[in-house]
Amino acid sequence: MVASRIAVLGRGLLPAGKPVLRGDDLGVLRGDGLFETMHLRGGRPWLRAEHLARLRAGAATLELTLPADAALVELLEGVAAGWPAEVEGALRLVCTRGPEGGGPPTVYATLSEVAPAARRARRDGVRVATLSLGVPAEARPELDWLPAGIKSTSYGASTAARRWAARAGVDDVLWVSSDGYVLEGPTANVVWLTGDTLCTVPARRTGILPGTTVAWLLAHATEAGCTAAERMVTPAELGGTDGVWLTSSVRGLVEVLTLDGEPLPRSPRTGVLQELLGFPLR
Ligand code: PLP
Repeated sequence: MVASRIAVLGRGLLPAGKPVLRGDDLGVLRGDGLFETMHLRGGRPWLRAEHLARLRAGAATLELTLPADAALVELLEGVAAGWPAEVEGALRLVCTRGPEGGGPPTVYATLSEVAPAARRARRDGVRVATLSLGVPAEARPELDWLPAGIKSTSYGASTAARRWAARAGVDDVLWVSSDGYVLEGPTANVVWLTGDTLCTVPARRTGILPGTTVAWLLAHATEAGCTAAERMVTPAELGGTDGVWLTSSVRGLVEVLTLDGEPLPRSPRTGVLQELLGFPLR
């Protein structure tokens, strides 16, 4: 097991146990901040430019001032320097609004080994249950005050959904709108195959997080012999497809084995898609 690391903008790599945040940091007090989690492979963050672009889009929405990309890249390179190339890492970049009384944003990066549970899910698949989000599929983007599609550090709903999943005896959750459409998981997008078409839920229309993993996968669908499409789908319709997966930066592509206790069709393409995405299968 490689020891986890933390590096703070302007301070560099810190020894484990060294204080990092002020108690009045708005990231802590209000969840007022953004983050990105990247897959470190071969010692380098995969899709770094895409993650930084999403972070910057989120910062514009939240009116959060970010340091220049060059400073963020230097921070990421600093925390990953010397990390063993053969060890998969989860590299997180966090930017909060900083101290309550004003001041520069708090920016730091953490790096840890990808958890065995994530690698297990990639290999074995997951059992998923639907959970109502209580709003119509297209309601959130219509509210012009409500930030949608940003990777906010306010993850209260996501962790609550995860706890619900543990109580319900499933591995993960798919949120469903009040008008019956599948949206996303608390930490993942949903992808399904209909014939040779690889589909996902439209992010702009629904306000879900535009996933970097799913965007890359659909942009490279032809390399797996597929076309790509954005569609709305109901849980019942997922049962009639040719394969359903969750995608996210660290777990990669994970097959959904059952939805609300009903077995989903297993796809022979899981291995091909995982290989295309470049995630180790061991
Ligand atoms: N949707 C939500 C709510 C997420 O939190 C995440 C990642 O954590 C995703 C989707 C997947 O995004 P990405 O592939 O960029 O990791």
